[in-house]
Amino acid sequence: QAKRLGYNHVQEYDKSMAQRLLSTTAMRSSLQEAIEQDELELHYQPIVRCNDQRAIQVEALLRWQQADGSYIPPSEFIPLAEMTGQIVPLSEWVFRRACQDAVKLQQRESKFRMSVNVSALHFNRANFVDFVLHTLAETGCHAQWLELELTESILLEGTQYAIERLQRLRQHGLTIALDDFGTGFSSLSYLKRLPIDTVKIDRSFIAGIRHHKSDRVLIDSVIKIAQSLDFAVLAEGIETPQQAEFVTDLGCNYMQGYYFGRPVPLKNL
Ligand code: C2E
Ligand code: MG
Ligand code: MG
Ligand code: MG
Repeated sequence: QAKRLGYNHVQEYDKSMAQRLLSTTAMRSSLQEAIEQDELELHYQPIVRCNDQRAIQVEALLRWQQADGSYIPPSEFIPLAEMTGQIVPLSEWVFRRACQDAVKLQQRESKFRMSVNVSALHFNRANFVDFVLHTLAETGCHAQWLELELTESILLEGTQYAIERLQRLRQHGLTIALDDFGTGFSSLSYLKRLPIDTVKIDRSFIAGIRHHKSDRVLIDSVIKIAQSLDFAVLAEGIETPQQAEFVTDLGCNYMQGYYFGRPVPLKNL
């Protein structure tokens, strides 16, 4: 009996491994198709100012719609695209579309800015800055309308190199946000070396506001230190009016989260 169970167990294990491999391969080739055949979309989530809760900016978030209307979340296909190298064409598509949409948004409401997530692999390509400048010119998008969101890991890698690129981008008028702050390994003291404009506090800390004093203390410290370095602070993942009030009282500058709006297509903004 034990042997049979063991045997079955191995069978099941092999089957799920095979299925996983198969689905990775299938996803890889269909992602290629998605890029070529325009099955990708950008959705936009509002970013509000804390003092008056007015939307002043949006973040572009990538969506891959399936034939049945469902979406594959970016957390599933972006890591895969990073492994296969498909992230570069994907990221180029995102940036070009975001620029086109930023132009449309400006026609509707001037002064509205847009944040775009940038993958580490794309940022580290030798021609990244040239690609950005070229695409801005091509689409008629002004550098001042865009903020690039980068995660800590990007900046930890080739630090000096990364800093020079960020400086070049900022000289052209783009602003830079450090995304998911607090989830990586960087310390607050390392922040002062970075030529950035905004620090986005990861939503895991916001989620802990109600029950964990440590999260409340940490948010308070990040806001104080970041502002003493002249960075603006944005709190991600605001889902309740209590969370909004809490970060606003601490002097946070911007908020983003389901409480203010979920990511939606441009036409629904
Ligand atoms: P992120 O840049 O930190 O984006 C915020 C994520 O939090 C989004 O998930 C958004 O839908 C979600 N979110 C916003 N407000 C709330 C809230 O109140 N509660 C909760 N539970 N979630 C909230 P999404 O769209 O699934 O994206 C996940 C991650 O995938 C992004 O995290 C970003 O790292 C990456 N990503 C998305 N689009 C792109 C893209 O175009 N390029 C690159 N390189 N990465 C992208
Ligand atoms: Mg982001
Ligand atoms: Mg984030
Ligand atoms: Mg995040």
